[in-house]
Amino acid sequence: MITYDEPLFRPPSEAYSLILQVSLGCAWNKCAFCEMYNSKQFRLRPEEDIFTEIASLASHSDQIRKVFLADGNAMVLSFDKLSRLLDKLNATFPRLNRISAYALPRDIESKTNEELQILNSKGLKLLYVGIESGDDELLERINKGEDYKSTSKALQKARKAGIKLSVMILNGLGGQYYSQQHAINSAKLVNEIQPEFLSTLVLSYPYGEDHFKQKFDGEFIPLNTIELIAEMKVFIETLELENTVFRSDHASNYLILRGNLCRDKKELLGRINGVLDDPANAKLRPEWMRGL
Ligand code: SF4
Repeated sequence: MITYDEPLFRPPSEAYSLILQVSLGCAWNKCAFCEMYNSKQFRLRPEEDIFTEIASLASHSDQIRKVFLADGNAMVLSFDKLSRLLDKLNATFPRLNRISAYALPRDIESKTNEELQILNSKGLKLLYVGIESGDDELLERINKGEDYKSTSKALQKARKAGIKLSVMILNGLGGQYYSQQHAINSAKLVNEIQPEFLSTLVLSYPYGEDHFKQKFDGEFIPLNTIELIAEMKVFIETLELENTVFRSDHASNYLILRGNLCRDKKELLGRINGVLDDPANAKLRPEWMRGL
């Protein structure tokens, strides 16, 4: 049996995965917009507890094909610990075909190329990385602890090791002041990485807008719905992707967009232009359906 230490978060695409908490909270836990793990002190769970949980699920081994390692950045575990964990998972669940986790760029950078390749060969197929922005000024403002270069370098390293990437950009993160540079530099960063999956979420304020503004030194004018969509236009226009599945369909998004970039770029921009040309008749997700 598994007992979760809540709150527990997972990407939407891990809905049918076994969620295994190998660490609790987020090792960084300082991003200005994020309240996900504020209630938790970061710590690694004892290996024996994790192994006992895995063993307790052995009778379900036929059903377990995907495992998501939680919490906030399970990739922070050392190579040795991750390696032993993946061995245990593979030995217990013979039909396992994907292990994934949230990661910070520095978690990837702390492993050698060879270590990443070994982890990949043991089933670590996908990492989810909240890039948030490619703009260094904004990344510093929100206290991400990463910049354009560190993110680009680490994520390209993961891809070279065969690990797929699902990256996320926060629409509206810089408000009006940073909107243009946020859109352009985020797209440039994503272009360098060429991730397999890209999604955008709209910035939300779990503890209220004022709370966020305080952390932002007060210099923040939020984008309205149309400005958010205009920012998306600049972002998508600047993207030069070869084969990336793009999703902007999270509950926070006003305009739902899905497609393959580059194949559907023209169509996606057409939909955005349709909204910007005639906002009054645009079909947008109403506020009450955003589920935030
Ligand atoms: S790294 Fe991720 S989970 Fe941690 S504080 Fe930042 S956004 Fe939140």
